[in-house]
Order: sequence, then structure tokens, then C-alpha cells
Amino acid sequence: MSTFVKTPIGLRMIPVFNHAHIQELKQFLSVPRKVAITTHYKPDGDAIGSLLGLYNFLHSQKHKVKAIVPSDYPEFISFMKGNDKVLNYQLKPKQAEKYFHEAEIIFCLDFNEQSRVEAMQHAMMDNKAVKVVIDHHIEPQINAQYVFSFPQSCATCELVYYFIRILNPEYKMNADVAECLYTGIMTDTGSFRFSSMSADTHRIIAALMDTGMNHVKIHESVSDTFTEDRIRFLGYCLREKMQLIHAFHASYIALTRTELEQFNHQTGDTEGIVNYPLNIKGVKMSALFTEKEDGGVKISFRSKGDFSVRELAKKFFNGGGHHNAAGGRFDGNLDECVEHFIGALKFYKDELQNVTP
Ligand code: 5GP
Ligand code: MN
Repeated sequence: MSTFVKTPIGLRMIPVFNHAHIQELKQFLSVPRKVAITTHYKPDGDAIGSLLGLYNFLHSQKHKVKAIVPSDYPEFISFMKGNDKVLNYQLKPKQAEKYFHEAEIIFCLDFNEQSRVEAMQHAMMDNKAVKVVIDHHIEPQINAQYVFSFPQSCATCELVYYFIRILNPEYKMNADVAECLYTGIMTDTGSFRFSSMSADTHRIIAALMDTGMNHVKIHESVSDTFTEDRIRFLGYCLREKMQLIHAFHASYIALTRTELEQFNHQTGDTEGIVNYPLNIKGVKMSALFTEKEDGGVKISFRSKGDFSVRELAKKFFNGGGHHNAAGGRFDGNLDECVEHFIGALKFYKDELQNVTP
């Protein structure tokens, strides 16, 4: 049985929140608990937004909460309340292990596979804590007692909004929590424009704004805080590096470590670049290949409309994600990766050649 959520936007039935599971969790959280919250490697806006949104809420409910991330994340999403409390596993692995070990309950937000936390996997899983997944990626595979997975949702932050309303319908959301949740919904929907955006999501945004939160600050931090290097790097990528494969309505950009270093690359500097080729009329899919420090290639895919980059990422690049936004990895050099990609395009040639530009 699903749970009806009483929200300021009316009564909503969210099928993912199984009634029995919610009752058990409510019971469990009815006394102060030691809580750990975590998210995926190289967290994005939805990852940090959901992490800190839930962190601030649970903190206000008298729980002892720790927020732990498997790696660093960009400066432009480092403005949310509680950011200074987030522990980076790469910097303090022993401390993070201790927090996971002590936790009675661990929330895993915005990822569907244990491997998405990379080296932190054992610390996160090998303990006695009750595990709760809240996520919007398809086919969750995390070994957890409670899995609230709703791929139709545009952002994990949207699910965390509902979850908070379910856990405590009396809770008066403040601007700090609202800013976290707004950030995740905004970044995961390309500023409220992707097909995942629903009327209800707009109503949630309205409810968040009713708290008096500052949306201008968020948009400025996320979009208008480039360094000079970063914006020149974007120019370089689009002018010098973007390749178009007209026959397949596809585009790719492949970046070497040397190129990244030339532009003094910081975490987050490549974010968003993969979207630009989709601005071109007729381009239906776009790929970004980035040489990793420790060898291999990190890959981002984006598409418009019917073509599923999730399928491509899964079949050819050991990855996954969403229908229109996915990622993966390639164990080999950049040239081999591009060659493998061209092979993948040929595999999907019927779908790609037939898409209407
Ligand atoms: P991004 O291109 O922003 O890094 O990732 C886009 C989407 O693809 C994210 O929602 C993420 O879940 C997914 N994704 C990125 N990299 C991987 C990966 O290595 N494995 C899987 N399964 N999904 C990924
Ligand atoms: Mn997300």
C-alpha cells in the first residue's frame, strides 16, 4: 500500500513510499538516532541538495546526523547550510569509517549502485546500520532494507521533499532546507525545463519559495561563478574540440589531461559542457570523454527525445543513468574510447539515423 502525503500542495499519493515501510521508519526515528547520510562519488547539485536537505531536517528533529561524501565536489554547490559539516571520505577515511560504524541508520541518496561510491563502498555497507535508499535512478541494486526508488521523479530532492513531509507533516520547512531542495531540483531539470519536470514539481518549487528562500543566490552560485579559466576552457571545447557526426546526429568532445591542466582544471569545470552540442539543431546525442588522472576515461552522455543514452552507456561503457542523461567509464586510452564510441553509434545507426532532426 502506498502512502498519501499531506503537503502544502494538497494530498499526493506517491507510490514509492510503501505504507508499511514508512510506518516502520517513522517508529524507528521516533527517538533520537545516530544517522549517517551519504551520496555518490563526485556529487552534483541534486546529490548535495538532497544530502544537506535531509541533514538539516533530521538535525532539527534531534537526531545526531553525519553527512559523508565519497569525494570532493564543486565550489559552486558549496553554499548550502551544513556544507562545512560535510565529511569527505577521501580526506578523512578513518573518521568516515567510524561514523558509518557508529550509525544506527544510513541514508543513501541519489544513486542506485553501490559501486557509485567507489572506494567508500565497504565502509558504507559493512556495518550493522539499517540502510535506506532514496533515489530516482532506474533499477536500484543497493543492498538496503528500505528502497524508495522512483525513476519518474525529476530529482532525489523532490523525493526528499515528500519524505520530509511524510516523516513529520507538522514540520515547518525553513529557508535553509528549501534552498537545498531547490538546488537539486533546479540542477537536475536543467533549470525546470526537462521532460521530467511536472506540474507537481512546479508546485513543490512554489512551496519551497514560500519559505522565503533566496532563489537568486542559488542561480548565481550555480551559473554565474565561473573562473576565467573555466569559461575560456568552455570556449576552447566548443571551438576547437567539438566533433559533429552528422550522419548519426551525434557529437563528442574528447579531452586529454594536458588540455585540462592547460586551463587549470578544478572539480566541476567540465560540468555542463556535454549539454552544449544539444543546442545545435539536429543533434540528438552528445558525449564528453575526459581522461582520468589514474588512467581510463570518464564519460558523460546526454540526448534529446527518444534516444536512450542510458542503454548505450550500459551496453558499451559499463555505466548507466537516466534516459537522457547518463555516464560511464572506459578502460583504455582516449583514442580507443572514441573508436569504441563510433562503434556504438554504428550499432544504434537505425535509431540515430532515423531520428527527425
Ligand atoms: P554526469 O554526466 O552528470 O556525470 O552523469 C549523468 C548521469 O549518469 C547521472 O545521473 C549518473 O547517475 C549517471 N552516471 C554517471 N556516471 C555513471 C557511471 O559510471 N555508472 C552509472 N551507472 N551511472 C553513471
Ligand atoms: Mn539526481
